[in-house]
Amino acid sequence: MIDLHCHSTYSDGTFSPAKLLEYAEKRGVEVLALTDHDTVDGLPDFFSHETKVERVAGTELSIDYDNGTFHVVGLFLDYHNKKLNETLDFLKTARRARNEKILTAVSNLLGREVTLDDVSDGNEGELGRPHIAKFLIKCKVVSTMQEAFDKYLAKGKPLYADKARLSFDDAAKIIHGAGGIAVLAHPVSLRLEDDAVEPFLSDLKGRGLDAIEVFCSEVVPERRPFYLETAQRLGLGVSGGSDFHGDNKLKIALGTGPETLNTPYSVYQALKELTQR
Ligand code: AMP
Ligand code: FE
Ligand code: FE
Ligand code: ZN
Repeated sequence: MIDLHCHSTYSDGTFSPAKLLEYAEKRGVEVLALTDHDTVDGLPDFFSHETKVERVAGTELSIDYDNGTFHVVGLFLDYHNKKLNETLDFLKTARRARNEKILTAVSNLLGREVTLDDVSDGNEGELGRPHIAKFLIKCKVVSTMQEAFDKYLAKGKPLYADKARLSFDDAAKIIHGAGGIAVLAHPVSLRLEDDAVEPFLSDLKGRGLDAIEVFCSEVVPERRPFYLETAQRLGLGVSGGSDFHGDNKLKIALGTGPETLNTPYSVYQALKELTQR
């Protein structure tokens, strides 16, 4: 079993890289990719530990897109690459500016000043909406993460603020420039009608998309053949990742996702070959 999409305390996961690796070993995950949002800062930590788990360097980038959520995971990265790091610095600055906007709105909502320290909760890296959601739970404004997003933090809700994102073309170029492959994360979140999926992915393939996540927590098992067959028709690779966030997404376990991901090792081998192209 492999897992090529997860988050640590360097973004909005609740497990440190060391704890992720320990947990991966315990759960029989043979290959693990760390793919924190907008950052590779957790990777030196991730690669510094003694473990049986094979490791892949990754990151997850948000793409400009109106219909739903468009995330691209870069895998097999040279995480020292200059252009990649410059781009991530730009995205982190945008993310921090956006966090300030959200905090101002939270302060107004609660009628007292709320600071980054109040919401960071010991986080080592990039803060995001999940941290704000947890703070709202702590303040008893809501009782669950889902409620926090549904009522306050989702697009169009009172605490939402936009942030600068990359175009798909730029994201693919930067990932390729760092020796990696560009993988469409959780394709369901694009919120496309079935008929529109293949043309959309075909266009992306022409612009640098290498693979799509088929073994993914948001794709129910009955829908895997749809994405698998689409990928095969288009000559796109297939990836698998749980999008594990620790206690920030309680229903998702490392390796197995909500229950049955168990992405086979052969998926990893095939993706690795794509980096040779
Ligand atoms: P941000 O990167 O700050 O825009 O926050 C996006 C992150 O929020 C996603 O990567 C998820 O980890 C998390 N998220 C989005 N929607 C929900 C939800 N309904 N429940 C829990 N977490 C969510
Ligand atoms: Fe996240
Ligand atoms: Fe994502
Ligand atoms: Zn993710």
